[in-house]
Amino acid sequence: MARAFLPADSSAMRLELTIDEARNAIAERRTTAAALAEEFYARIKKEDAEIGAFLALSEDRARAQAERVDKMVAEGKPLPPLAGVPIAIKDVMVTCGVRTTAGSKILENFVPPYDCTAVARLEAAGAVVLGKLNCDEFAMGSSTENSAYRPVRNPRDKTRVPGGSSGGSAAAVAAGMAVATLGSDTGGSIRQPASFCGVVGLKPTYGRVSRYGLIAFASSLDHIGPFARTVKDAALVLHTIAGRDPMDSTSAEVPVPDYVEELEIPLSKGRSPCGADTPVRAASQGQKPSGPIRVGVANEYFGSGLDAEVRAAVDAAVQKLASLGCEIVPVSLPHTEYAIPAYYIVATAEASANLARYDGVRYGFRARSARTLAEMYRTTRDGGFGMEVKRRIMLGTYALSAGYYDAYYLKAQKVRTLLTRDFDEAFKKVDVIAAPTAPTAAFKLGEKIDDPLAMYLADIYTVTANLAGIPGISVPCGETREGLPIGLQIFGRHFDEATVLRVAHAYELSVGRR
Ligand code: GLN
Repeated sequence: MARAFLPADSSAMRLELTIDEARNAIAERRTTAAALAEEFYARIKKEDAEIGAFLALSEDRARAQAERVDKMVAEGKPLPPLAGVPIAIKDVMVTCGVRTTAGSKILENFVPPYDCTAVARLEAAGAVVLGKLNCDEFAMGSSTENSAYRPVRNPRDKTRVPGGSSGGSAAAVAAGMAVATLGSDTGGSIRQPASFCGVVGLKPTYGRVSRYGLIAFASSLDHIGPFARTVKDAALVLHTIAGRDPMDSTSAEVPVPDYVEELEIPLSKGRSPCGADTPVRAASQGQKPSGPIRVGVANEYFGSGLDAEVRAAVDAAVQKLASLGCEIVPVSLPHTEYAIPAYYIVATAEASANLARYDGVRYGFRARSARTLAEMYRTTRDGGFGMEVKRRIMLGTYALSAGYYDAYYLKAQKVRTLLTRDFDEAFKKVDVIAAPTAPTAAFKLGEKIDDPLAMYLADIYTVTANLAGIPGISVPCGETREGLPIGLQIFGRHFDEATVLRVAHAYELSVGRR
């Protein structure tokens, strides 16, 4: 039996564990994948009663995978990049044989017969899947209070929300209950909870990561991405899950660079010479990297709704980037104020279509007492869906109905194009754009739950990246006086996650890891 790698009294050490630290401990035989998984389960069983990040533990699957990794170590085989690394998955990604609910009663008993591509790729790289993470029902929300099972508490202050909808994914990393996790981001659900919990969260470019096996909310806005303790870990996870998948026709054929290798290029040089291409590849093609990274700052993201402490922290982070050799350039994103209304039309319209499949016939929950088929549909959907999901289905159905389609849905699509053009114009002048991730730090449980519009505004700085399909990361950039984490958001060009990660990594290093 291997000696416990994480001493029971050293929670600080556990909280600090990164992917490389976990993998190296296994490779160097200081622990085993099996022992490490057990230690994470012990921590989950101790801490999670209060936090509520997990909806299911996949212990059999984790043990089987840990055994495979330990066998490779014993046989002296080369270890894959995530060998034995304990991870966990938002419960909107299907896992073969492991209950998957999307945080909804309507999928209470749904055990999928296949794996989401992103999960399969992580396991193929050696990761150990500990379990499934709590979230807002069908990823609709900004606080994880819309979970049909229980709310999640923010590990940094348990009277506060962890953000949402991937609140379980953010809280699990923040509380040291997983080394990294996967979340989904339709309007900010990776970046905003990362910001609230003080961890790193990355939403890649649309098409970068396959959505096969992601339970659909709004298909043209949905993205899968990592939560991690460090930018480098996020880069590693992205590298593992990214790339074309024949099972998702919207996954792109664009080559996946080695994000980790690119992290070390200094910001003072190595600007991507041809937009989406990476400095390393450009250099191999004989192109010279030209000049410092240009960081755009847009007034539209620093308006009156922005909390003063968040503003001060983000301003200081931008100054820091300047001191690291970046050029700071004012840019304008003039249609930003229309992003929230456009998002809530497009997202609800797509949701109303996607959620039509939950009718009691095909999946999960079925109301029992109905006498006719129509009554069965009605009572199943009435009993299976929660309030927020019903509100979205009604909004979306209305926006798509004959007579209103042009006025709402079509109009919103036009606004979406204008927002995308704003970014295209800005990225002619700059390589990345820096902004706050969320207008405030984490709010109290219950504070906004009765006011959907106030809740929707939590995404004011994140939905634009989903509408435009560009990548965005949230990296911790300080704390409020009350000790609540604040997030710096960095947007990049389509498929230029490499530059986004590089800027975030340099910033993170300059302020010390967390
Ligand atoms: N909070 C936003 C919403 O409720 C975004 C959710 C998400 O990104 N999944 O729609």
